[in-house]
Amino acid sequence: MKVLVINCGSSSVKYRLIDTETRMALSVGVVERIGDGGTSHRAAVSEILERVDLTEIEAVGHRVVHGGERFHDATLIDDQVVAAIEECVPLAPLHNPANLAGIRLAREALPSLPHVAIFDTAFHRRLPRRAIHYALDLDLAQRLGIRRYGFHGPSHSYVARRAAEYLERDLEDLRLITLHLGNGASACAIELGASVETSMGLTPLEGLVMGTRCGDLDPGAVLQLVRELGVDETDRVLNRESGLAGLSGLGNDLRDIEEQAAAGNDRARLAITVYAHAVRRYIGAYAAAMGGVDAIVLTGGIGENSAQMRRRILQQLDFFGVRLDEDRNHDARVSAEVPVVDVSTDRASVRTLVVKTNEELMTALQTARVARGDTEVRSPGPVPIAISGRHVHLDRASMDALFGEGSELTVYKNLSQPGQYAARETLTLVGPRGQIEGVRVLGPLRKSPQIEISRTDEFALGVDAPIRASGKTQGSAPVTLVGPAGTLHLNEGLICAWRHIHMHPKDAEAYGVENGDEVEVAIQGGERDLTFGDVLVRVKDSYVLEMHIDTDEANAAELSRGAGGDLLYDPPDIAAAASLERRRTR
Ligand code: AMP
Repeated sequence: MKVLVINCGSSSVKYRLIDTETRMALSVGVVERIGDGGTSHRAAVSEILERVDLTEIEAVGHRVVHGGERFHDATLIDDQVVAAIEECVPLAPLHNPANLAGIRLAREALPSLPHVAIFDTAFHRRLPRRAIHYALDLDLAQRLGIRRYGFHGPSHSYVARRAAEYLERDLEDLRLITLHLGNGASACAIELGASVETSMGLTPLEGLVMGTRCGDLDPGAVLQLVRELGVDETDRVLNRESGLAGLSGLGNDLRDIEEQAAAGNDRARLAITVYAHAVRRYIGAYAAAMGGVDAIVLTGGIGENSAQMRRRILQQLDFFGVRLDEDRNHDARVSAEVPVVDVSTDRASVRTLVVKTNEELMTALQTARVARGDTEVRSPGPVPIAISGRHVHLDRASMDALFGEGSELTVYKNLSQPGQYAARETLTLVGPRGQIEGVRVLGPLRKSPQIEISRTDEFALGVDAPIRASGKTQGSAPVTLVGPAGTLHLNEGLICAWRHIHMHPKDAEAYGVENGDEVEVAIQGGERDLTFGDVLVRVKDSYVLEMHIDTDEANAAELSRGAGGDLLYDPPDIAAAASLERRRTR
């Protein structure tokens, strides 16, 4: 598919017409130095639409910086999506308006084509909760949606994949620090192929020093600025007049600043030093956060092109294995033909790679996936997780024996799977060692009884229940049930449920899995990081997407209500981009 990718950034509009079959760019261009007296975004997009052959285009992919809580994946754009992106403007005041201008103009000019939004925030959706939360009053923060999101997702994920390919290592086995140093800049710690820490937070203002954005700042300094300047002016100062531009007084282009620094300009030198220092601090922090690092990856206009800045950032890090080779660094030139250059010495235990980013290819591949008509497929975001307590399913005969002839279950609470409910009725389970009272019966009645307990319950009862998929009770453990109308001994029926995911066929399609597959699921939002292996996929028309684990498993991950887990796999297109195999255990 031929996809026009529009990346309407804060200071430039880049475009690329990409054939997703060959992965080749058919046409590439950029309109630079936007804003402050230069061209407007609108004019830049018009110019781009004049430059490309509009008849060739089959879909348009738009980079959108902030997807808020709403967007976890590439999304087909309609008026409602435009409105939702608009709602995210306060979170990214420099970017979302630019992205929206691109979207509006391109939709006007090419109304019959599918337009797809690709969000910077999506790659960071698996941030652990220790990295998501600011230390604010939790209720207040949640009410106002104040949390860390992270940005530059397509770039971090693309260069991480390229680095893994170059190192001939599985991305899942690497600990990477990726540094996207462009006009905007962010650092990302990548472990198990997922973003576990990133320097940009609620907005793309936090973290590293940027072209015109301040990066990290004492919140007290923000309060002081607000008192002196008011909110709007502070916003403008922090977003547009800070960073390299604010420090140097020479604008945001590092080329100019380096030139002036070489000519002896002290503010230019200061800007460079402060910039490099901020990046070094993050490298140290992220190496500590991951307990080590295998490779540092530099990308973006500055990371790819400024040997001087790379040297300043990476000097004297040999104490933890980073050794820059001066000549390789000086001579490094990345290009479409040579996208990765190793600038470390042979003795370095941590590789330092310069990688040419290609956010546009990532965007094009995701656009093609959505535009191909997969839009009705639910987006493969995190899988919601439900924690099942011990429970009992009964058949007609066991119901009669335990609750009386012809008795019926009464609904206490509906469960997420359609038609399933927790009943008011409870039973006592009796085993050789002990008994457990108040065990909930789930309705409706089934063909045969089945009792699902956790490993801890087995110790309490003194039984050894096998791990089984639901319905597979033949040869399982015996148990005695005590109800208000009688006692029933079952020779089999007691199991420890095999952790599983219920999926509608559309979900299975979206995740690229089939009924009976066993997958791995990395837990999101748990207190203790945990990846569950051997998770059974169960697909049925009547199922609603949900992973079921028992209380022991939930406790092992310190899971709370509303948690989600990520299937460890790559959507087919993206995987192909980096020639990575989808990760499925069997
Ligand atoms: P990006 O946003 O990725 O396009 O990066 C823009 C930044 O890269 C600007 O600050 C440029 O000054 C910087 N940049 C591009 N080329 C060079 C170069 N040869 N030397 C230093 N900085 C560069």
